[in-house]
Amino acid sequence: MTATAPSPYQVDAHGYYGPFGGAYVPEMLYPNVEELRDNYLRITKDPEFQREFQQLLTDYVGRPTPLFLAQRLSAHYGTTIYLKREDLCHTGAHKINNTIGQILVAKRLGKQRIVAETGAGQHGVATATVCALMGLECIVYMGEIDIERQKPNVDRMRMLGAKVVPATSGSKTLKDATNEAMRHWISNPTDTHYIIGSVVGPHPYPDMVARFQSVISAETISQLLHQTGRATPDFMLACVGGGSNAAGAFYHYLDEPSVRLIAAEAAGQGIDTGHSAATTALGKPGILHGASTILMQTEDGQVTEPYSISAGLDYPGIGPQHAQLFATGRAEFLSITDKQALDAAFQLSRLEGIIPALETGHALACLPLIGAKKDDVVVVCLSGRGDKDLATYTKHLEEYAS
Ligand SMILES: *Cc1c(COP(=O)(O)O)cnc(C)c1O
Repeated sequence: MTATAPSPYQVDAHGYYGPFGGAYVPEMLYPNVEELRDNYLRITKDPEFQREFQQLLTDYVGRPTPLFLAQRLSAHYGTTIYLKREDLCHTGAHKINNTIGQILVAKRLGKQRIVAETGAGQHGVATATVCALMGLECIVYMGEIDIERQKPNVDRMRMLGAKVVPATSGSKTLKDATNEAMRHWISNPTDTHYIIGSVVGPHPYPDMVARFQSVISAETISQLLHQTGRATPDFMLACVGGGSNAAGAFYHYLDEPSVRLIAAEAAGQGIDTGHSAATTALGKPGILHGASTILMQTEDGQVTEPYSISAGLDYPGIGPQHAQLFATGRAEFLSITDKQALDAAFQLSRLEGIIPALETGHALACLPLIGAKKDDVVVVCLSGRGDKDLATYTKHLEEYAS
């Protein structure tokens, strides 16, 4: 492929990735989405924006994050495994790369207020963090049930000065919080920016978020080159909820067919148990949160309630770019159960002294499944740290008594 040919895996001029993507929003949201679509590339390509973004990634987030050669894990699997340490980012996961980028866009659009949705609270905390940093008002919608389940993150958001608004409709979880955040945005179009937390939603969100997260693979290229003499690994592994850490980890390798892209989905208790979030295994094409994508749904098109032990993967769809990577076979999607993810999280803790997020446990659980050979180089995107999952890990400590 020549350098100028457009990538078949990147968004086209109309906001699509093959048949997936687009902006399927109510008419009342058109002005907001259009304003963003017409300005996001101009704003983010501006050298002054890039200077401020890179400076904050360095001095505030703590980038570049290390690329760590995990020697004991490598020896265990008989291959060479590097960990891209997004868990060392400020606030404990990759999500802050995106919220920093979006708040800088919001400021340049002259917005005074930020609205966001959150499920487990991780994106809410990353949003509240950058709002405090920039002195913008922050309103986070969160399902009433999630507010009870995720109290520490609710307290963090409040400590950071955000207003947490309970979503009391429907199942009182993420999907309902998203609806109510959208409604808020519709009624406050001129002064509010909506920060979406993953590569989902109407165009241009999936592309904008992927660009902000692409710093993950940009750094990996130079770090790998420095440490191994080659810029491309044989495998790149990442977990997929909506898909933002995977989109960032894959971004600069999409058109390098020698790199096998492995996406780990949450199978929950098992694909056929009715308690799962394995979107590509169970889903069909449809419209979710403003985009054409693949989602879990009933025969008559009702969105299915997903389940995973990890709150960050508990989502009934995937971003449109991932739908296209799945449909074209460019990325391989593996379904990982709760048990496999727990096993992998305990294994990493004991082999490398790194307690990963439960989401990340799903990516690590792919290591025995990919058939990596001795001379292969495998990179795992370590999306976040496990502090937030300690209550879940504690319940299982006895099973892993050494
Ligand atoms: C939110 C989260 C995820 C899932 O989100 P993606 O958009 O799929 O990356 C994965 N890992 C961690 C640690 C998270 O906080």
